[in-house]
Amino acid sequence: MSGDLTSDFDRMTLDAIQLAVSALFRPAEVVGISIEPNPYAPQLRVELPEDDLLFAYLGPFSEPRDAWDVFERVFEQLQDYVPDRGVTWGQPRPECPGHPHPMQLLRTEHVLAMACPREPDVPIVVIDRRS
Ligand SMILES: [Zn+2]
Repeated sequence: MSGDLTSDFDRMTLDAIQLAVSALFRPAEVVGISIEPNPYAPQLRVELPEDDLLFAYLGPFSEPRDAWDVFERVFEQLQDYVPDRGVTWGQPRPECPGHPHPMQLLRTEHVLAMACPREPDVPIVVIDRRS
């Protein structure tokens, strides 16, 4: 992350963004992450190899942010693009351990996780928990 991100985005938000990006991309696949600081429509900018870029809308600065909301917003916008990019071409992310499709976000009051969209027997991958 670069620039004066922390003056506009708090640590919780930045951590949630990092977590969402790392749920979809391996470290070597991400060249850089930055935020375009438009006060009304800040955008996350994810730089991939070969000058490829992905964007995700983050919502107004004034909007209250919950870490899981930030995660969900970033994750769901980026996930759709993953199989179309050079570095992750045709790959479902996050990959379901039992099938050739991506896992989907599972969010309950206490758990944020990845789950198989079809079979409840496939173990979920927990991202975060709240008591
Ligand atoms: Zn599955």
